[in-house]
Amino acid sequence: MTIVRYRVVADAYARLEKIAGRLEMIAALADLFRQTPLDLLPKVVYLSQGKIAPDYAGVEIGLAEKLAARSVADATGTTVEKVLATLRRTGDLGTTTEQLLTGRTRATRSALDVAEAFAELEKIAGASGKGAQSQKIAVLAGFIRRATPGEAKYLVRTATGKLRLGVGDATILDALAEVYAHGRANRIPLERAYNVCSDLGLVARAVAEGGLGAAERIEVRPGHPVRPMLAQRLATSAEILEKLGGTCAAEYKYDGERVQVHRQDDSFVLFSRRLERITDQFPDAVELLRSGLAPRTAILEAEIVAIDPEAGELRPFQDLMHRRRKHGVADATRQVPVGLFCFDLLHAGDRDLTRLPYPQRRQALADAITPSDRLRLTSSKIVGTPPELDAYFEEAITDGCEGLMCKSVGSESVYQAGARGWLWIKYKREYRTELQDTLDLVAVGAFHGRGRRRGAFGALLMAAYDETGDVFPTFCKVGAGFTDDDLATLRTRLEPRQVPDRPARVDSRIAPDVWLEPGLVLEIVGAEITLSPVHTVAWGQVREDAGLALRFPRFTGRYRDDKSPEDATTVKEIRDIYQLARHRRAGAH
Ligand code: ATP
Repeated sequence: MTIVRYRVVADAYARLEKIAGRLEMIAALADLFRQTPLDLLPKVVYLSQGKIAPDYAGVEIGLAEKLAARSVADATGTTVEKVLATLRRTGDLGTTTEQLLTGRTRATRSALDVAEAFAELEKIAGASGKGAQSQKIAVLAGFIRRATPGEAKYLVRTATGKLRLGVGDATILDALAEVYAHGRANRIPLERAYNVCSDLGLVARAVAEGGLGAAERIEVRPGHPVRPMLAQRLATSAEILEKLGGTCAAEYKYDGERVQVHRQDDSFVLFSRRLERITDQFPDAVELLRSGLAPRTAILEAEIVAIDPEAGELRPFQDLMHRRRKHGVADATRQVPVGLFCFDLLHAGDRDLTRLPYPQRRQALADAITPSDRLRLTSSKIVGTPPELDAYFEEAITDGCEGLMCKSVGSESVYQAGARGWLWIKYKREYRTELQDTLDLVAVGAFHGRGRRRGAFGALLMAAYDETGDVFPTFCKVGAGFTDDDLATLRTRLEPRQVPDRPARVDSRIAPDVWLEPGLVLEIVGAEITLSPVHTVAWGQVREDAGLALRFPRFTGRYRDDKSPEDATTVKEIRDIYQLARHRRAGAH
């Protein structure tokens, strides 16, 4: 393996940290990738996001700051108290370490190389059981002793899970395309490759070794979660049918949690909507699949729904939340039984099915499943007229569903991993507000509460996701809809996300009391979308010097832990809703 000094990576971090613009960021990353030999590229790709593995692998380096402070104290020959005092001043343990090290001379400085640093970070992540804590502290201290102050800053940030350079997946793909695929215009095939394997390291290796062709040949494979295909939304049955060419498969839209099942012989792994491993939460679902799924190798998608087996009825989404736990799983499994409603088959036997049209995948799914009370295919019907679609919609609502998922049955109806296209369109019950649907927004800031809410947060600054810029522009400030319980929970949940300055990817003209690293997604309803001089969603796109904002926002009570910040409602969706509402109003007048 070629040796590359960790300094090369640390220098790149230092450059990235100063950059605000996306294009510059891509250029700086591309520079780093150019200097990286092929065998190290996947590692450098993970490191640039402060990780050592793809997200789905569930590897967390995240050493608690209190423990890391002990490493820093050991390595710099100071006391933990002094480290913590400096930390209070700087607000960041990386900077603290850098400051404490600066001015000290050591003979062995800058001896670290990337492969070594990576292996040590793996040790920190992997230490478990008795003595794990002291082992982690010792590894990090050893690290700091060998690093320059500048290197130590980033090592400490990486080890504590706080690198936060704001390098999103899309930015990495752009930089890879720039270096290995003749420019960013060729990002699309790389994006597809990423969507089917969810591993930027794997994509990087493929394109670096075998060019675009190799990236295009990446297929779905059990064990590598596929980024989920998503749906657009429309408000009327006529619009939906028109968009889908006059006929569609209408499936019940169950209100539960999406799950992607990966089977390899007797081993089952369940991934959530955001590709986290949730197998341990659902031992009953695994048993249902073990007896009812025929192919020994398979990737299948289903909605897990809380059910009442005696009454044979579906239970509300809130009930399913009891199953979201690490402890007491057996009790929860008894109290809240679940059913699986299967809706897609992406891989079976040795075949990648994602390129087949929907009707063929549905047939393969029907062949693969032996239905039982709790393991079923989604109810579905081919419909060709708006009244038929509306009647089926009513049936779905009566049966306890949220509405329908209307799916294209045309020859082009492949499984579009990671895309929100027009092959699937959701048709949901209208909400009481003017908006057709709820929005999923990301908390990027918080305001201290006053009066009764003193000591807690009084409101949150919420953002949408801008896919083009890979940033989070603000959309509203929400204080309504939170119960006292919510406010207390929010304080604890948001604490680890607090940062001293505006996070690199947050686009805001408002300064909240507390900045938050984008992470927590909440479901919000609002009355309407309006032009705004302060919020930055679609800034300058609808009107010069104005963005869009949500009027009268209110938290619905639903935490979207199954969504990552990049899964939040996008700027494009918001712009579409705004424009649609304007057309409607114009039409009505
Ligand atoms: P999205 O997943 O589109 O970002 P969301 O998570 O807020 O949005 P909805 O927009 O309400 O959910 O609808 C999409 C989700 O509906 C899917 O991700 C899946 O979990 C669920 N679902 C329920 N029934 C079906 C079905 N028959 N086919 C596909 N998805 C279904």
